[in-house]
Parts: sequence; structure tokens; C-alpha cells
Amino acid sequence: MTLIEARAALLVVRVVCVARRISPVLFAVCLALAFPVQKVAAYCRSTVASGTSGVCSAVPNSPFLNWQRSCVTYTFNNNAFTRLQPLTEAATREIFNTSFASWSGVNCSGRKPFYVEQAPGTTSSGPGFVKDAANVSVISVYPGSEWDDLTDHSPNAIALTLLWYEKKMGEILDVDMDLNLGAGQFADCEKVTCRSGSVVDLQNTITHEAGHLLGLGHTSVSGATMQPQAIGGLTAETSKRSLAQDDVDGYCALNLPGFVCSNAACTCPVPPIYRSSTTQSGCACASVGLRGRASGWLGLLTLLGVAAAARHRLRRRAGRAV
Ligand SMILES: [Zn+2]
Repeated sequence: MTLIEARAALLVVRVVCVARRISPVLFAVCLALAFPVQKVAAYCRSTVASGTSGVCSAVPNSPFLNWQRSCVTYTFNNNAFTRLQPLTEAATREIFNTSFASWSGVNCSGRKPFYVEQAPGTTSSGPGFVKDAANVSVISVYPGSEWDDLTDHSPNAIALTLLWYEKKMGEILDVDMDLNLGAGQFADCEKVTCRSGSVVDLQNTITHEAGHLLGLGHTSVSGATMQPQAIGGLTAETSKRSLAQDDVDGYCALNLPGFVCSNAACTCPVPPIYRSSTTQSGCACASVGLRGRASGWLGLLTLLGVAAAARHRLRRRAGRAV
């Protein structure tokens, strides 16, 4: 079909649609004729209303969580590397880089990727969002005893990604990530043997959490990185290290802003100071039977689930609840 023929065909469709304008059903048919039918995707984008448990579902008229910045810099809390031993700091940094690179390496029709940058050094800051002040995206590691005392942190969670976003339009303003040593010691389970239930593959976990950081919720597709459930064997799961096609499709659907260098070092600019109202969302990736290791489920079933929802409603400057 030539371009002229295509335009003519589209014009015919438009004419028919105009003639049927009084019928919303027929107009819908016209739309289907004019444009290819889109296949139903299993991946799920997080929305301002979907920060709940389980596989998220589409919520009508609920804006997607979205990044307006094209890059984000994260750093580690002062005691993170000590607490992740016997993993070394170098190994931990490399695992985080590799986990985020799995996503940024996806080719979305040649678009420039969103950039997630690891800062050198560490910080005394912990997770949280402060309005009208600079925020730092922090990776924190907690012993189980400390984790249990944290608000909204499920005792069965392996990790929790906290997305701080503007509630009305869903712009992500800040992100933090918490790891729970109560779930087991983190390790590189392709280099050492990890007994499921007592040791957790760090890259498997961070690749999944990175998907949440970017704006994805859970999918129902078996074998996908963003699947909340995984059947494991005697060794800890590592399959989420590799993205499935569903993850790739979800990542490209995010249509994240592509990072363009703005300075000689090609580093991420300092994030802006936000003054808008915000809310908090989180994803807890939990292991069923984790605290019930004598239950017989040990090493057989791992459940990654979204736990915390929008919980902390902050207020606009005028003090009105949003
Ligand atoms: Zn998750």
C-alpha cells in the first residue's frame, strides 16, 4: 500500500466513524479498524493507586508512577558493606551495577536509556523523603531485629523499595532501598552454593527491586524478573537476574527519559529540591516460610510480594491533605 492509498483508507475509516459518531460502540470498532489491536501485556506499571499487595492490576484513571528526571544517583549507608559481609564492598558494588545494567541494556527502539548511577563513598543518611530539602537515594541493610522495628517492613520481606512520588501525577521524586538480613545472608549464588531459605542471591534481589525503582509492578508471567512468585529448588533463586521478554516489554513501556550528558564527567546532576506534596509506596519481596523454616517450605517456594501501599500522606504547603 502506498502512502496515498494509506491516507485514502484512513480517510474512509474517519468518514465512517463520523457517520457513526452517535454510537460509541461503533466508534470503538472504528478505532480498532484504524489502528492495530494491541496485545494485552502481562507486565504491570505501578500507578499512584496500585502500590498494594500481590500482582498489580490496572486502575482506571490512575496515573503511572513516572520519572521526569533522566537519571538517579544512589549511595550506600555507612554500615551497608560491613553488614553484607562476607560479600566485599567491591563485589557488592559490582552486583548493583550489573543488576541495573540488565535494565539499561534493553534496546527500546534505539532510545537512550535512563541512567542509574552509583555514587562513590557512603552516607550517614537513611531512607526517607524530606520536603523542601535535598534528598539522597540510599541503600540500607538491616539485621532482622532492626528490620522488625521498622514501620511498614514486613517480617517476611527480603527487600523493600521505597518510591516517593507526587500523588496526583505520579512523578517519582526519590527512591530508597532496604535489605533485610533476617531473610538470610546475601551472596553471589553463581559463585558460591546458596542454600535456599538461608542465603539470598543479591543480584537476583536487586534486579527485581531495580524494576520497581524504574516504575514496574509485578507481572503474572512465569519466569519473569518482575514475577512475584518463584519456585526454587534447594539452592537460592538466580533466574531473576536475567530479564524475560515480558520485563523487556514493561521496561520499554515505561518510556523513561533518556539520559544525556550535561557535564564533562557525564554524571547525574544533583536532584532538585521538591516542594510538592508526596506519598510513599513500597514493595516488599518476601519469602514464604522464611520465618517458619521448620515448616517444610524451606527452599521450595519463594514468594515475592508487594506489601506496603501509599501510607504516609504528607500535606501540601497550604496544609491540605492530598
Ligand atoms: Zn517486588
